[in-house]
Amino acid sequence: KSGFVTIIGRPNVGKSTLMNHLIGQKIAITSNKPQTTRNRIQTVYTDMERGQIVFLDTPGIHRAKNKLGEYMVNVAEHTLNEVDVILWLVEPSNFIGAGEQHIIEQLKKVKTPVILIINKVDTVDREKIVEYIDTYRKVYDFAEIIPASALRAKNLDTVIDMIFKYL
Ligand code: GDP
Ligand code: MG
Repeated sequence: KSGFVTIIGRPNVGKSTLMNHLIGQKIAITSNKPQTTRNRIQTVYTDMERGQIVFLDTPGIHRAKNKLGEYMVNVAEHTLNEVDVILWLVEPSNFIGAGEQHIIEQLKKVKTPVILIINKVDTVDREKIVEYIDTYRKVYDFAEIIPASALRAKNLDTVIDMIFKYL
């Protein structure tokens, strides 16, 4: 099997950190400044038994405030149609704001399976995580919902397993 996966989500949720840890190398530039990733970066994950996953790391999907912002948003939104699986990363929170609603609207336009990753679970209690999974389950028909920590490499094997499931 082989296929393309895009990682979407608001700036600073950990998209680049996730991609780096999935691949096992530091390729994309991560920082605590939003919009560090200006262009699309591709990396390839190779599994001798299961195949290859090409990850497209995109600038975050958000509403554009200027020309550069507009360009970045277009790059991210176009990839939704081109890929086999969408990974949507969110902060561990119950709050679904305008930014998340905007992403949900984009996701409703495509048929690509969406795996929701509730990232940074190292920063919250277990009971809270169950609550957040419930909240997100109600707003979109996700293929899978996976709590994870990109930074601590927690549950990333599950992320890889689930990607191969939908390739
Ligand atoms: P991006 O803008 O979505 O690409 O986000 P980055 O990957 O650049 O990460 C933004 C910030 O969040 C960085 O300071 C990361 O170290 C931090 N971060 C990413 N993943 C996690 C995580 O699982 N747990 C915690 N505590 N911090 C994280
Ligand atoms: Mg980034």
